[in-house]
Amino acid sequence: MAELLKAIKGMNDILPPESARWEWLEDKVRALMRRYGYQNMRTPIVEPTALFVRGLGEVTDIVEKEMYSFEDSLNGDKLTLRPEGTAGAVRAINEHNFLYEGGKRLYYIGPMFRHERPQKGRYRQFHQVGAEVLGFAGPDVDAELILMTAALWRDLGLVVGQDVKLQINSLGEPDERLAHRTALIAHLEAHADVLDEDGKRRLHSNPLRILDTKNPAMQPVVEAAPKLIDFLGEASLAHFSAVKQALDVAGIPYEVNTRLVRGMDYYNLTVFEWVTDKLGAQGTVCGGGRYDGLIAQLGGKPAPAVGWGLGMERLLLLLQEVGIAAPSTAPDAFAMVFAGTPMPQVLATLEALRAQGVNVVLNPAGKDGPASPKSQFKKADASGARYALVFGPDEVVQGVVSVKPLREAGEQATRALSEAAQWAPSLLVSAQS
Ligand code: ATP
Ligand code: MG
Repeated sequence: MAELLKAIKGMNDILPPESARWEWLEDKVRALMRRYGYQNMRTPIVEPTALFVRGLGEVTDIVEKEMYSFEDSLNGDKLTLRPEGTAGAVRAINEHNFLYEGGKRLYYIGPMFRHERPQKGRYRQFHQVGAEVLGFAGPDVDAELILMTAALWRDLGLVVGQDVKLQINSLGEPDERLAHRTALIAHLEAHADVLDEDGKRRLHSNPLRILDTKNPAMQPVVEAAPKLIDFLGEASLAHFSAVKQALDVAGIPYEVNTRLVRGMDYYNLTVFEWVTDKLGAQGTVCGGGRYDGLIAQLGGKPAPAVGWGLGMERLLLLLQEVGIAAPSTAPDAFAMVFAGTPMPQVLATLEALRAQGVNVVLNPAGKDGPASPKSQFKKADASGARYALVFGPDEVVQGVVSVKPLREAGEQATRALSEAAQWAPSLLVSAQS
């Protein structure tokens, strides 16, 4: 036998029945986006490496060690599988002068790639929903973006403040960060002995990143570090207050986490994360914030922006953890065909039912003809369908089919094939309730 080929470690197949949960989540996300006026965007999975180096910052975990980068074998171009969605979204809006007529609300759903150690909730190909608001500077859109994530948790059945908790912070503006940086470096230098390799290397290149460390040994030093929030001026504090007030009025509980800095350099002012204690170390389900400088940094006409990214694998794991299942995707009806039955009439009847919105699965006859009625009824049962459509040779010749309820007591009915459109609604789940 030929060698069995396998997928790349950390890159997963999503197959039924798991894929039904994905579709359910995607449907919820699309409905949410329509409710808030966000339009879909789709950008390439491969981008020039420079986009992420310039966009995310050279001294970040992603750019330093997590990117899948390679050279185009035809022309030597340096390319990268996108590790996140914001840089590509901004490139696209710049390239198409997309803010020409004013601000935009956009979203995307798709795979991202990071070369990390695979574990529960951490993969090398994972999927994000991203929402980006471009061209609006006020705290109202920051708040709306957060309220929108809270609405998604509710739509999915998660309890805000219990299953998922909101942490927020403000990173201020670049000049405020500069003042903080000096104080931070002094503090970290005084504790240089406990800094790990990353920490030492980043001390002068990107000390803020050190606050993002996951190294437990460094937590006390990081905990005691000067807080960026104490360096914010009036305007930054007012922006932060406005976001907090909106959350207060909307009744969304949150914690101000002055250590929350996020993993990319592009953020300013508002940053936030939705965290859970139900997924071990991979506790951040969704994170985002304002990135007013990024559009100009990537060569576009300066414009403010804010957004978030949500890890779909982690969200689905969390839903599973708290026992929230997707609604059933079982068909309304399962069609079984006995030996000797003319197929064209069966297929035409099923088409007439489907045209009325009935979900009906045909049990195909193999090369040797249909399976025994007993094994077909077993399959019908396993399909989860409410009804079995039993097509026998004599019945079909007479122009009828037997409709047998599988889930509840009830009489078997005989229906005319020619009137399928009329009795189709009786098969729909909505007809029962
Ligand atoms: P973490 O701190 O867990 O590494 P992050 O800060 O790197 O997360 P972001 O870049 O903010 O993550 O991405 C947004 C969301 O995407 C995360 O909150 C998380 O839910 C998800 N995510 C990030 N990296 C992975 C991964 N390797 N596998 C699965 N989901 C991920
Ligand atoms: Mg990460």
